[in-house]
Amino acid sequence: MSSAPFGPGSMTMPGLLRHNSLEGGVAKTKIGKLMEEFDKTEEPADVPNIQKAIIRHLSTTMVKIPRQVDSLATYLASAYSVRDRLIQKWNETQEYHERLQVKRVYYMSMEFLLGRSLDNSLLALGLKKVYSNCLEGLGFNMEDCLEEELNAGLGNGGLGRLAACYVDSLATMDYPGWGYGLRYEYGMFKQKIVDGYQKEVPDNWLADPNPWELPRPDICYPVRFYGHVTNSHDANGTERHVWEGGQVFEAMAYDVPVPGYDTNNVTNIRLWSCKKSDLFDLGAFNDGHYEHAMSSKLQAENLTAVLYPNDNHMVGKELRLKQEFLFASATLQDIIARFKKTGRPWPDFPKLVAIQLNDTHPTLGVPELQRLLVDEEGLTWDEAWDIVNRTFSFTNHTVLPEAMERWPVPMLEKILPRHMSIIYDMNLFFLQKVEKKFPNDRDLLRRISAIEEGSPQNVRMAFLACIASHTVNGVAEIHSNIIKKTIFRDFIPYFGSEKFVNKTNGIAPRRWLHQANPQLSALITEVVGDKSWIKDLRLLKQLEDRIGDRDFEQRWMTIKLDNKRRLAAYIEKVCQIKVNPEAFFDVQVKRIHEYKRQFMNILGVIHRYNTLRAMSETRRKNETPRVVIFSGKAASGYYIAKLIIKLINSVAAVVNEDPAIGDLLKVVFIPDYNVSVAEVIIPASDISQHISTAGTEASGTSNMKFVLNGGVILGTVDGANVEICEEIGEDNIFNFGCLADEVEDFRHTQRYRPVSIHPSLKNVLTSIESGTFGDPGVFAPLLETLRSGGDVYLISIDFPSYLEALKAVDRAYRDPNAWVARSIRCTAHLAKFSSDRAIHEYATEIWNVKPCPVPSKP
Ligand SMILES: *Cc1c(COP(=O)(O)O)cnc(C)c1O
Repeated sequence: MSSAPFGPGSMTMPGLLRHNSLEGGVAKTKIGKLMEEFDKTEEPADVPNIQKAIIRHLSTTMVKIPRQVDSLATYLASAYSVRDRLIQKWNETQEYHERLQVKRVYYMSMEFLLGRSLDNSLLALGLKKVYSNCLEGLGFNMEDCLEEELNAGLGNGGLGRLAACYVDSLATMDYPGWGYGLRYEYGMFKQKIVDGYQKEVPDNWLADPNPWELPRPDICYPVRFYGHVTNSHDANGTERHVWEGGQVFEAMAYDVPVPGYDTNNVTNIRLWSCKKSDLFDLGAFNDGHYEHAMSSKLQAENLTAVLYPNDNHMVGKELRLKQEFLFASATLQDIIARFKKTGRPWPDFPKLVAIQLNDTHPTLGVPELQRLLVDEEGLTWDEAWDIVNRTFSFTNHTVLPEAMERWPVPMLEKILPRHMSIIYDMNLFFLQKVEKKFPNDRDLLRRISAIEEGSPQNVRMAFLACIASHTVNGVAEIHSNIIKKTIFRDFIPYFGSEKFVNKTNGIAPRRWLHQANPQLSALITEVVGDKSWIKDLRLLKQLEDRIGDRDFEQRWMTIKLDNKRRLAAYIEKVCQIKVNPEAFFDVQVKRIHEYKRQFMNILGVIHRYNTLRAMSETRRKNETPRVVIFSGKAASGYYIAKLIIKLINSVAAVVNEDPAIGDLLKVVFIPDYNVSVAEVIIPASDISQHISTAGTEASGTSNMKFVLNGGVILGTVDGANVEICEEIGEDNIFNFGCLADEVEDFRHTQRYRPVSIHPSLKNVLTSIESGTFGDPGVFAPLLETLRSGGDVYLISIDFPSYLEALKAVDRAYRDPNAWVARSIRCTAHLAKFSSDRAIHEYATEIWNVKPCPVPSKP
């Protein structure tokens, strides 16, 4: 294979940087001026104009004739007409920020769980009402059209959704900042439930045209894998490393515009899509072996074909490593190309660029930036390292050992030989500095090294990210404290504890209240007097004054009931189960994971079922009807998590058909949890469960979504539950279970002694084992996790206090006045958990970026 050393722009090759036309930089030619003018002119947003735009897109973009127009086509045409407006604002924003040379933050994340965009964009632009009228005038219903949009499921769960909320806040608060990610052709799989078991179906989310992405064939970068490094000396005698040979892939940009709410700013998420480079078999083309060259192109692996469906669990697959590098390399090349266009000297790089690593997944960006600066741009090692260090900061998301990224050295050496040697050097120089400060402590060096001893050796990506970043943050107070005492403990004497900070997660009030709960949003707007609370959640405090106002409280609960009706209708549609909307809705929706303990929840449901069955009919009549709702996906290879889903469905099958129980208890597993499903479930909860073993859930974000919608939490003292409790007051949250600092002791004890099972738990296990819920053999491996498995997540420890907490919830719900006051207080005191607060803290305390609002039209 012929291979030439090429960096961006160093050679013109087919398909690579054909135009090098990065955004901005409009030439002051006639056409340039006219285009600038165009971006600044907004089409009037009235019904005739918008209808005309929709019709034009139906006819031209969609190539439809009248009898082919259905709600899908109407959705798409509407989306294209909104996108026209977004692109103009996007152009204007990028041009403005480019011209002012403001510092930008780049949020690097392998996942963006965006969900749907049309509703969100219409609300951001203030066009929801007028579009609703337009569609009605055309004979379509807004809700039906919105439902046609497929979910962008380019993430697993909380981490990917956090990235989406953060970009929403960046845009809304006018921060110059972009997201960078990967454009998977298949996102998170769709979940079907067959015979109670999870079945995975590919998520072909690009089956319909996607109006929300703008392909940028002019923005491509080559990304190399394998090959070898040759060392030589240049004219000045400086050592030079040339990485050559191997395979070259091409990363192409797709831009996803993200509008801020009620602002001119529209920001960008740039997603990379992979294709094998035309360069790969250029030799074969030149030799006339067209057919051979084309066939290798057809067989080329597509690195961005599919998202790995693991949440909080590392799988050490080569393909995943390649995805991570393709992402890191294309992103850093793009950022460097944009920086070079400013003409500023290299030391200014950190004055214009901040990069946030969302977990360790993008950490290969660290050695890649060092490589690009040293090998391609000719900086010295120290100059480059200084830039790297002032540019990167890193968010740690977990302390679960199985989630820690560790890549085998031999795999890295094979796929990324130059990067492996850079990582060795980074680590060596770091250890030398540590040794100078703390001489004669071999064990400290072993513990702190980014290279973990063993056969094979592994690179600890969290350590590499920590060494290379100026700031490391956890995602809730308790979690940030835990990482200082555990994984990063040995780094503190060297770096000082100031390097380790907390940035408690947040959620976007736009999506999780204004969009998901339109009725509650309207009521809040009435109380506040205008919609300013959507950008400043602190204004929700005014709701507190309405507590005790019976009329207001009635309206508050009526909205909750309406949301429960909406959810009940959805449940009937997708599960064919009729539930009573007047019942108490008890919800646990999130990825299925042992540490999140859906298992404990369903064991509690069995306990309730047994208790109800044992009651006299007269006593039963006094019980509150309850619907217990589960939803969530298990990683396709996570056997125990899949058994938990099966158990939930088996319990549901028995309980829901028991005539003695009727409406008193219904159990529902809603399939295919995703952002849109969450938007229907969350506003409808009375109580939601966030019951991870203390110390295992770094923050959680759905806990915030529920409370913002007036839902009460039943939870452990873990993650952001702790701070939510501080904000809303401990009378408004139901806490139980052991504390994080007790967990190690319990685990230690259980390792050496058989797990002791409380009688209440024993009874529940007995009813499973006696076949009440079908063949007990099916569930044996799940029950074994509590016994021979050592009960790692301490269900046997927490179960009695869990049952007590459930009883306390039941008692509290019997007092409707106290309950509605609690619900209002939840919403009123949730301001802290707005992603706007979180992003403001990141911007001022970590990134040093400032808002830069695009001026309004004169
Ligand atoms: C918010 C959200 C999550 C995160 O939920 P946790 O309960 O915090 O784990 C996961 N999936 C979706 C679709 C979400 O919207």
